[in-house]
Amino acid sequence: MEESRRPDFDSKEFQDLFHYDGPLGVELQPDATVFRLWAPTAERVIINLYRTGSDGAAAEQAALTYREKGVWEYRANKNLNGRYYDYDVTADGVTRRTQDPYARSAGCNGARSMALDLRTTDPEGWGSDAPPAKTPENIIYELHVKDFSWDASGGFAPEHRGRYLALTEKGTTVFGQGAYPTGLDYLQRLGVTHIQLMPVADYASVREENPAQYNWGYDPLNYNVPEGSYASDPFHGEVRVRELKQAIQAMHREGFRVILDVVYNHTYTMDSCLFATVPWYFYRCTPDGKPSNGSGCGNDIASERSMCARYIADSVLYWAEEYHVDGFRFDLMGLLDVELMRSIRKRLDDRFGTGEKLLYGEPWSAAHTCLSRPVALADKAALAQMPGIGAFFDYTRDAVKGSFSACGAPGFVNGGGMNAAALERCLRGWNGLTDYRALSPDQIVTYLSAHDDHTLWDKLIYTMRGGAGFTGADAEVMRANRLAAAICFACPGHLFFLAGEEFGRTKCGDGNTYNKPASLNRLDWGRAAQNRTLVDYYRGLIALRKQLPGLCDKTAQAAARFTEITDIDESCVRVRVDNAGGSRWQELLLYFNAACEPSEQPLPAGFWQVLADEASAARWQEEQYRTGSVTLSSISAQILGR
Ligand code: CA
Repeated sequence: MEESRRPDFDSKEFQDLFHYDGPLGVELQPDATVFRLWAPTAERVIINLYRTGSDGAAAEQAALTYREKGVWEYRANKNLNGRYYDYDVTADGVTRRTQDPYARSAGCNGARSMALDLRTTDPEGWGSDAPPAKTPENIIYELHVKDFSWDASGGFAPEHRGRYLALTEKGTTVFGQGAYPTGLDYLQRLGVTHIQLMPVADYASVREENPAQYNWGYDPLNYNVPEGSYASDPFHGEVRVRELKQAIQAMHREGFRVILDVVYNHTYTMDSCLFATVPWYFYRCTPDGKPSNGSGCGNDIASERSMCARYIADSVLYWAEEYHVDGFRFDLMGLLDVELMRSIRKRLDDRFGTGEKLLYGEPWSAAHTCLSRPVALADKAALAQMPGIGAFFDYTRDAVKGSFSACGAPGFVNGGGMNAAALERCLRGWNGLTDYRALSPDQIVTYLSAHDDHTLWDKLIYTMRGGAGFTGADAEVMRANRLAAAICFACPGHLFFLAGEEFGRTKCGDGNTYNKPASLNRLDWGRAAQNRTLVDYYRGLIALRKQLPGLCDKTAQAAARFTEITDIDESCVRVRVDNAGGSRWQELLLYFNAACEPSEQPLPAGFWQVLADEASAARWQEEQYRTGSVTLSSISAQILGR
């Protein structure tokens, strides 16, 4: 399309003529079905109805009638539950075939939408499904559906491996041998409170009928349809909906809240349902009319346009309502706008109660995005304008293990030195000491590893062993891993880690495995059993953290909790924390020692209970006290309380 022929989508005139708040998508009635599509620039819209989701010719065709505000409608005089459909939308003389942006399910590979009575997809007991009660801290575990159960070591039923239904299994053990738990049993024992699923909305880059194909899923195709490759049957659209609900129901039942990773900042390609229905409306453009590329994925969604904002907010509300999802992680949130994020927060609060749903995202973009008018983007500096919306905090990540971008660059634990000023940015940097402008640590997600970049273990192997021995269990690297975890778990904010960080997960040094084989990405449950002492260290830290109000404090007063952050020498820092607020310990004393030599340190007056040391983060279960001085082992944390 010539750029000059595009309407001015940002004009008040376009907004007044075409902003629409009424129903869109399919409305199933006992004796009728109504299809509604927002396509204000279309000249003609045809619906094709099919008996199957991915093959055969259309059984029926009909023209939609233009109603108002850009909305086209087709009314069939029967209930079409289970029928598949798509549209031929003609705009500016070009006809494009497309699925329905509001589709609730789809045929195999997502090209055809499905009219679906959602009540028929509810698993037994769904009406009484509810998330577990909140706990003193949110500990978020980032998990990919296929990674979770792909490997034979998980002991999952063969027909569930790589699929939603593996998340419903109980009693699984390594290779089914009964010796070491896997799956949800393992996660219960670990103590995480939230499972964040990497994208489960329909994505484009795997053939759904071929379960061996792998992708992380940041290539959105249908925003309101579950991915079909994780379903036991991708050809019948009701199956993926029911099985994802079953997985969420099981996670709730076993004590986890569920967060979805949502990717509203771009579409897989410009050949999308959003482009086909209203060419260019949903996309930001460069001054010369090309797609903006702040996502690094070829295009940026124009979240600031009212019908685009409505589309994104409707989608979030839909997942929360229909799938009982408890929170959302926004991919490249820095490309979305502040007004949209505020409106999502408000709609969820109004519907489900203030703060009931957890919201956070990546407060950055991959590159500059082109805006056609001034828009406040949802980035680090905008956090003060977005109460109740959190952001990944990259200072802790990079300070503890070294920069994500330079694989050989060390941090605190792996030879870069321990430094009180840098640690202070981790502890108090959420407003002002860094470029973050959060109102409180409630808006901070603290982490060392995520699906992007090297696993923590691989980063440590690169920096400490020159990239040799990824699959081993080097004792000194283990020490550095434990120290890294202890520092992270002492920082304010919601805690987050990549699945398997707690067992030294390796991707053999590959930092970008988005389209690599499942065999590289999969959780190796055998390694979890082998490295069970590291798992137990995380388990101890998680249980300890939940008892420490000084570290869990999410109020603006949290910064004042850190009463002392002192350099002991170039590789050791001491921190004192006011832990008042109902804990057994009124004060905490933390030593982070990155030196390769042990040292003896004088203690402040009093009897200090050992809560965690170099070998165990469950010392708090014992009655061990120190007075006068304490010995710090090499490369280790020591956490004391009194
Ligand atoms: Ca798909």
